[in-house]
Amino acid sequence: MRDIPKFEKLTNIKINEFGWEENKDFVIYSSRDRTCENVVNLMMVSEGDKHHFMWIKTFSRLKQSGEHSNGTRFYCTHCMEANFESEEKLSQHKDVCMQHEAVRCVYPKEGENKMKFTNQQNTFMHPFFVTADFESTLVPCVVDDKSNAFVYQKHIPNSFALKFECIHDQYSKPIIINNGNPDELMMTFVKECEN
Ligand SMILES: [Zn+2]
Repeated sequence: MRDIPKFEKLTNIKINEFGWEENKDFVIYSSRDRTCENVVNLMMVSEGDKHHFMWIKTFSRLKQSGEHSNGTRFYCTHCMEANFESEEKLSQHKDVCMQHEAVRCVYPKEGENKMKFTNQQNTFMHPFFVTADFESTLVPCVVDDKSNAFVYQKHIPNSFALKFECIHDQYSKPIIINNGNPDELMMTFVKECEN
């Protein structure tokens, strides 16, 4: 799969690759090139270690069921879910959708969908604790063909939340949420920690 971007560059053909599992399609690779008009959609079907590729000639036929029997719908090949009555509306959706990584939702099965902390004997009281959480924007990078690492996106922090907690209430602080200037975000975070 990691060779697809190289192949796209060499051939000027845009490739989208999809998989099929438990009667549901999902995105394996979605090309971000929206200028190229030569688009090939492939479905990978696996049997053990063997993988076969099938050409999806008409993408809307893969997706379309009886619910939209009156007219072709235009489906997003990046999220596989959004569909529109015109190519123009699909294009507007892709402006937003393709800023994000293609994702596949996999939900845990019934009976495996609950977690419980069991190592109670390993716990002890901390007088102070700090919780910090970052959100990042994923920015695509130019893939370096010569490098062994397949770096294809950068995580740029765009916001954080910070909470100082103490077992003595007077030392606890209200939650701090910052979604200001991304260039100053990390500096602001360090300063908030030092305060
Ligand atoms: Zn989409």
